[in-house]
Amino acid sequence: MDIKVNLETVKKSFVNPDCQLIAVSKTKPIEDLKAAYAAGIRDFGENKVQEIQAKQPEMPANTRWHMIGHLQSNKIKYIAPFVHLIHGVDSFKLLKEIDKQGKKIDRIIPVLIQMHIAEEESKFGFDRAELEEMLDSPDFGALTHVRIMGLMGMATFTENQDQIRKEFRGLKQLFEELKSRNLPEFVQLKEISMGMSGDYKIAQEEGSTMVRIGSAIFGSRS
Ligand SMILES: *Cc1c(COP(=O)(O)O)cnc(C)c1O
Repeated sequence: MDIKVNLETVKKSFVNPDCQLIAVSKTKPIEDLKAAYAAGIRDFGENKVQEIQAKQPEMPANTRWHMIGHLQSNKIKYIAPFVHLIHGVDSFKLLKEIDKQGKKIDRIIPVLIQMHIAEEESKFGFDRAELEEMLDSPDFGALTHVRIMGLMGMATFTENQDQIRKEFRGLKQLFEELKSRNLPEFVQLKEISMGMSGDYKIAQEEGSTMVRIGSAIFGSRS
């Protein structure tokens, strides 16, 4: 498994060369992260707080840590001081907790709102009604220590490319619609985090600005 070669192959196959690559290093040993860093990667995606905590001191200070998994409220405090972007904000309750932790340490924490775009029940995220409810809530306007940088979504795990494309397209449409609305200043819609090893080309064709790629770089996970 040559991480540098894999990275070159992945980058070469980008439909949009400006799309940001997040190297998803969950479950992988620190040597693999260091190899990716040496090959120029600065953005790493992890889905467990404990694992980020363990890896963070081992990596250079300019490494950017992306929390891409489901985050439990009681663990926010461990990553709040340094996390670069929390992709998986899947409830208003969690967003309020992140705001609270940000306030405690006087840091504005960048986040993405995770939308449920897949057919599967199991994937986390807001549905449309929950999103509208949050945006209409007075509590939402009162947030002070989060910055919503955009949306994140995971497509259905399927061979059906048309379905994947349709789900990504729906997320992009929602993104554009939200951009045209009058939202509080801390909502700065710039990023759409969509696309993984199996579907990043479709995601880029549909307007992704960030792809989260693991196995195509680091090999399959056990
Ligand atoms: C694991 C994971 C990825 C990367 O998946 P690959 O198929 O290995 O590229 C991307 N996003 C999320 C949210 C993940 O949990």
